[in-house]
Amino acid sequence: MSLPPLSPEFSSRVLHDVSMAKHTSWHAGGPADLFFAPRNAGDLAAFVRQLPAAIPLLWVGLGSNLLVRDGGFRGAVIQTHGALGVLERISATRLHVEAGVPCARIARQCLKWSLGPAEFFAGIPGTLGGALAMNAGAWGGETWKHVVDVDVLDRRGTRRTRTAAEYTIGYRSVTGPAEEWFLGARLEFERKPGLNPDGIRELLDRRKQTQPIGEWSCGSVFANPPGNHAARLIDIAGLKGLRIGGASVSQKHANFIINHGAATAADIENLILHVQRTVESMYHVVLRPEVCIVGEPA
Ligand SMILES: Cc1cc2nc3c(=O)[nH]c(=O)nc-3n(C[C@H](O)[C@H](O)[C@H](O)COP(=O)(O)OP(=O)(O)OC[C@H]3O[C@@H](n4cnc5c(N)ncnc54)[C@H](O)[C@@H]3O)c2cc1C
Repeated sequence: MSLPPLSPEFSSRVLHDVSMAKHTSWHAGGPADLFFAPRNAGDLAAFVRQLPAAIPLLWVGLGSNLLVRDGGFRGAVIQTHGALGVLERISATRLHVEAGVPCARIARQCLKWSLGPAEFFAGIPGTLGGALAMNAGAWGGETWKHVVDVDVLDRRGTRRTRTAAEYTIGYRSVTGPAEEWFLGARLEFERKPGLNPDGIRELLDRRKQTQPIGEWSCGSVFANPPGNHAARLIDIAGLKGLRIGGASVSQKHANFIINHGAATAADIENLILHVQRTVESMYHVVLRPEVCIVGEPA
């Protein structure tokens, strides 16, 4: 990709050809042409303002729901984790949380402030930004059930606040204005005096028993189809353990695909397609990938 001249303020801070395998929990995938780690929201807005509009942007939190194909991403990756890190209480039941804050930190802080239900955030190994983009959820909890409004940045670098009502929210799906990204949100919880301080650990322990936590994955690959479970369909289709290259369908939880160390993004994507086709031909159910797949093939 021929690169535009960046302003001196940013040219020394923008990295080139950064392997996205280092920035995703699947530890696979190709390089980003440009990679920028902003200092804060103002710095990020200034960067986006001076970037030519033709350069595609990919905002990344902790990369726990992301597959970048082996040919890489022809554009600029923006890393929110480590930059947009404000988490503050702004009223008895309301928080202002920036997009780069890990969900687990929200869960822990809510516990300290006796606010809830926020335990579900503990099981989501991503940032609030990713959780807003995906409507991440677990154990009956869902991100957007708590959103009052969001701060967004558009492609011209303009910031604005939007109410939750401006988005169409579904199960693991969020539709809003195109070419806008989340800088943060106001989240509303209830007062929950007497929360069990061990509650989060117990939920995480339960998760460890059923999911291959600690292995390289992106969590559940497919959203559950209405009235069914993706993991059950993959399991009864006999696909547990199926391997393509360095990736396989987890033996522990059929909706997880594991990178055993040397999987390419193509191995993972081919396995996703194979699982999808097999389940569709056997059970006439189309599994919708929950993971975001971007970039160019090798
Ligand atoms: C072991 C494991 C368990 C998991 N369990 C769950 C679970 O129980 N429930 C669940 O819902 N998910 C689960 N996930 C998936 C993942 O953690 C969530 O989807 C999470 O919300 C992704 O956040 P992230 O910061 O890692 O996003 P990323 O993977 O970095 O990005 C995901 C998508 O969000 C976009 N995005 C990221 N930040 C922003 C932003 N600021 N503005 C706009 N778009 C943005 C990206 O461009 C991309 O399209 C699990 C993953 C793993 C590895």
